[in-house]
Amino acid sequence: MMGPGDTNMDTFDELGLNNTLLSAVKREGYTEPTPVQVQCIPSLLEGRDVLGIAQTGTGKTAAFALPVLQIMSRTPPARRRVIRALVLSPTRELAAQIDERFAAYSSEMDLRHRVIFGGVNQNPQVRALQKGLDVLVATPGRLLDLVGQGHIDLSSVEFFVLDEADRMLDMGFIHDIKKVLKLLPKKRQNLLFSATMPDSIATLAGSFLRDVVTVDVSPETITVDRIEQHVMFMRKADKRRALVDLIIDQQVHCGIVFTRTKHGANRLVKQLDQAGIDAAAIHGNKSQGARTRALSAFKKGDIPILVATDIASRGIDVDGITHVFNYDLPNEPESYVHRIGRTARAGRSGVAYGFCDESEAGYLVGIERLIEQSIPVIEDHEFHYEGARPKPGQKPGKIKQKGSSQGQSRGRGGGGNRGGGGNRGGGNRGGGGRGGGGNRGGGGRGGGGNRGGGGRGGGGRGGGGNRGGGGRGGGGRDGGGNRGDGGNRGGDSR
Ligand code: AMP
Repeated sequence: MMGPGDTNMDTFDELGLNNTLLSAVKREGYTEPTPVQVQCIPSLLEGRDVLGIAQTGTGKTAAFALPVLQIMSRTPPARRRVIRALVLSPTRELAAQIDERFAAYSSEMDLRHRVIFGGVNQNPQVRALQKGLDVLVATPGRLLDLVGQGHIDLSSVEFFVLDEADRMLDMGFIHDIKKVLKLLPKKRQNLLFSATMPDSIATLAGSFLRDVVTVDVSPETITVDRIEQHVMFMRKADKRRALVDLIIDQQVHCGIVFTRTKHGANRLVKQLDQAGIDAAAIHGNKSQGARTRALSAFKKGDIPILVATDIASRGIDVDGITHVFNYDLPNEPESYVHRIGRTARAGRSGVAYGFCDESEAGYLVGIERLIEQSIPVIEDHEFHYEGARPKPGQKPGKIKQKGSSQGQSRGRGGGGNRGGGGNRGGGNRGGGGRGGGGNRGGGGRGGGGNRGGGGRGGGGRGGGGNRGGGGRGGGGRDGGGNRGDGGNRGGDSR
């Protein structure tokens, strides 16, 4: 079980930010970076271009604003300020929000920023430009308008951020973007963020990003169909031997084992080692460097087995993974889909094994309900234990043990856990039996929205993650009980 001290966490301190910005994020109440921040900030600080696939609500603004501010702070502003960072945004609301974030993060810096957009009198904007700015956030129309009038000089731009690029194209801004690109100096750092990655965006990105790092935190649509899934019932104490047997029998050269806790991951690596199986753990307690090294050894094939916790697994994008072992079944059904989606990437197929012990039977019920399939059971093995099989009519979720403090221990940032605002939890999930009425999910996973929504209610918004998006299956029906129409699950923000 996961206690409060055993959550997986990255910290802002590990990302290379300076003290001014660290205190800024602290002031903002951010306790841990979101995945897009973890993945973008170090690369941007190194001067790389970044292509970020992330929607609003993921914390992407801080992901680009913080490193841009940090690099800018290395050189003091010239006496006559020049625009060093240009952020293009499709709408005024977004532009204003971005500018407001720059204000919050740079309040202790000697830096001038300003937002300009159309539909309002241009004079105050022109005056601000005349006084000199370091960071300009703009919508394309007004920007070009003021460039045309000679009020804006973009020849000193060092950072160009194109935000919500897909929306820009939808709104017909492609020509404006191209015009802006022509006005920028050749040597600069580029950032492009987009919620989706249609071909048009890929082409646009290819036209101006150089030495690019791609960061993808889009809600995954994983097709579990290509993944051969199995579940094995066994006692907890037998899991280790069952895993070793499977790895050896199946000659696994590229497999991931998921454990629920960091401690469990470390212990398992040692146990596998004792059995002669080379493995490395990646989880939130490992430094970024250690994780990167483990991951690259795994990618190269030097280490056949990676033992990971859920959070750490988000950054794992390795094509050739053949096996996923759910050593502990995840207590959140979505994690199961996410975990097994580490295999069968890039059009390949893969195999996923779930080890289910007596305390996890309810998790299995939840998982099967979510994926609307019953997972084939392998009984023909040495460790088969009938007692771990879900009982008829068993409810999804944790098997209650007397004195369990599970309810309190989960979910940072909130009195309640999981979606204070309602949904989930209680009875309103899934209809009767497995698969409810069947037609869940017209809207697809993670439909539109941002973090939070209903989740805020619980008492404090979830610090980090980009979870809880628009809820799954926005438009869809989930048997009897609509799970998550409106962005739920906020409180739980791992
Ligand atoms: P964005 O996706 O950039 O629009 O950010 C969405 C919201 O998340 C904003 O209100 C930010 O202030 C907030 N936010 C950004 N990063 C974090 C973080 N690490 N922890 C908590 N909140 C954050």
